Amino acid sequence: MATTQTKDYYGTLGVKKTATTDEIRKAFRKAARKYHPDVNPNDKKAEEKFKEISEANDVLSDEKKRKIYDQFGFYSDNIDPAAAEAAARGGYGGGASSGGGYGGAQRGPRGGQEVPFDFGGFDFSDFQSGRAAQQQEPGGGFGGSFKDIFSGMFNGGKQAARGPQPGTDLEYQVSVDFWTAVRGGVARLEIQRQEVCPTCKGKSTTGGSVECPECHGSGQVTQMGGRMKFNIQCPRCGGSGKVQNSCPTCDGEGVVTKREPLEFRIKAGTRDGQRIRLAGKGNAGINGGPAGDLFLIIKAGTNPVFTRSADDIYVTVPVTMTEAALGAKIDVPTIDSHEGGARTQLKIPPGTQTGQKLRLREKGVPSASREGVRGDEIVEVKIVVPKVQDERSKEILRELAKLNPEDPREDLFAKA
Ligand SMILES: [Zn+2]
Ligand SMILES: [Zn+2]
Repeated sequence: MATTQTKDYYGTLGVKKTATTDEIRKAFRKAARKYHPDVNPNDKKAEEKFKEISEANDVLSDEKKRKIYDQFGFYSDNIDPAAAEAAARGGYGGGASSGGGYGGAQRGPRGGQEVPFDFGGFDFSDFQSGRAAQQQEPGGGFGGSFKDIFSGMFNGGKQAARGPQPGTDLEYQVSVDFWTAVRGGVARLEIQRQEVCPTCKGKSTTGGSVECPECHGSGQVTQMGGRMKFNIQCPRCGGSGKVQNSCPTCDGEGVVTKREPLEFRIKAGTRDGQRIRLAGKGNAGINGGPAGDLFLIIKAGTNPVFTRSADDIYVTVPVTMTEAALGAKIDVPTIDSHEGGARTQLKIPPGTQTGQKLRLREKGVPSASREGVRGDEIVEVKIVVPKVQDERSKEILRELAKLNPEDPREDLFAKA
């Protein structure tokens, strides 16, 4: 779309640049008689021509508009005639710079990018949001003020926007069995992450040059500013018409996606839901940006006997009626007794009731965060009633009941 908006109004009307207002009017009338739609019904070409001469006449017959046209080679309602005059007096760039410092060549962020267009002397105040905002350039994202349009125009190349960018973080859920989480161990998983491209070393290019896709090699692009069209140096290639090629390995991304096995240590006492951060193990950065982090979210497995709550272990232990009534020393499972490890004795006090909880200090899970600290094991007593079959046992129990005639439900009635 490398076309200019500059129109030859004098040529359209067939007059000299020095033509007087009267000469212009006469020339227009003559042409209008020839191309008027009434004279040429259904003639598209004549209609186009009539539009052109009308536009030329509109500008050239108006002294102020003609002055702007003579100065800039195009006319727009958005150009302040006073500014045009000032520009005419001072030459391009020397005039009153009400446009806000766009005089002179603009340098792109990459350096060396000269934009050969001068905006000194323009009054851009009319461009606030209204008309300018309607002119949405694809990919340009022009917002409100004219300043934005021009910064968009001059920074608008994809290349210019690509400085070093940090890599993104990765998050993986890792299932770890109960015992690995409690006692520590090694977890393995396969992760998919972006690595710096081995071919271009993250530079996105292998150094060769290809035709610039933005300007198709012409070195120039047309940009809209309100009603005006500007032919400017292509911001992507800086006017050279060529850009560096895209690395074929990474397609110009600078990174490649790789699956890789990962092995990492699980500390004893690692908890369910815990986040483990592996700094710099996330996605690689782009253009030399730092790599992101890898976060592993631990999903700890369960155990049929032990229930874990933070660093404490809960276990329900069956106790016979006799043990509970008379008191006893019993062996209870702890995490230490796993796979034939040392057993722990628990003293059941006489008269222990079912549901009663007894605490074994420091028999829980070692803390992953505090060295040498262990949680507790909480033992819930569950009294198992003997299933008596023989007469002798039944007799003994009846005798026992006679000796202990209390009613365990008495309290319920009192309170209900
Ligand atoms: Zn590459
Ligand atoms: Zn280009």
